[in-house]
Amino acid sequence: MNSLETSFRTKPYFRSNKRGNLIILSGPSGVGKTTLREGLQKRIPDLRFSVSWTTRPQRPGEIMGQDYRFVSKKQFEEKMKADGFLEWARVHNEYYGTPKAPILRWMGKGEDVLLDIDIQGAKQVKKQLPESIGIIILPPSKKELQKRLIHRQTEPPSKIRIRLKNAETEIGSKGRFDYAVTNQEIRSAVDDLETIIKAARLRVKK
Ligand code: 5GP
Repeated sequence: MNSLETSFRTKPYFRSNKRGNLIILSGPSGVGKTTLREGLQKRIPDLRFSVSWTTRPQRPGEIMGQDYRFVSKKQFEEKMKADGFLEWARVHNEYYGTPKAPILRWMGKGEDVLLDIDIQGAKQVKKQLPESIGIIILPPSKKELQKRLIHRQTEPPSKIRIRLKNAETEIGSKGRFDYAVTNQEIRSAVDDLETIIKAARLRVKK
């Protein structure tokens, strides 16, 4: 545990505004968002994580309700029709969506909420809630991203090719985000994310 971690645990930062911050963590597939998000949650335990709904199959080791809420296409479409998502997107041929109600409830109580969503979703949220804080995670290089996707072994080569192609376009939209963090080294990238959230908590104007 480093000193910053201790300070978050023992002395919550002063909250200058009542409504919580909405922090959007985005970036191309394979860039390491999940690892960074988990690292950040350890450093800032009172950060609420929004568990997305998805139609994609559960991967080994993933926990229902913790990593995702795994649902059928029918369940997803019903929630869509009921306007239950803050945003939703079709990513790599599967549906992913951010449930609206818990986020609005937490923010209303002054709690900060973290989203881990793709670039299309990040754009949608930013449009609806312009005060949200958009962070794009970038790979150190294209080659490194390819290496990470292959190493992860969660997709067949044909799907990796699609993800890499999408990544180029996604990285090109970096200018729409408030912050860009390069995931060269996990610890240092988590430090950067922690700094952004600390600054957001100290901010007077939104
Ligand atoms: P994976 O299938 O690898 O878990 O996620 C694929 C992509 O979908 C990642 O970029 C992840 O951030 C994104 N994603 C996860 N949940 C959501 C969501 O609720 N909405 C959107 N738009 N993207 C999501």
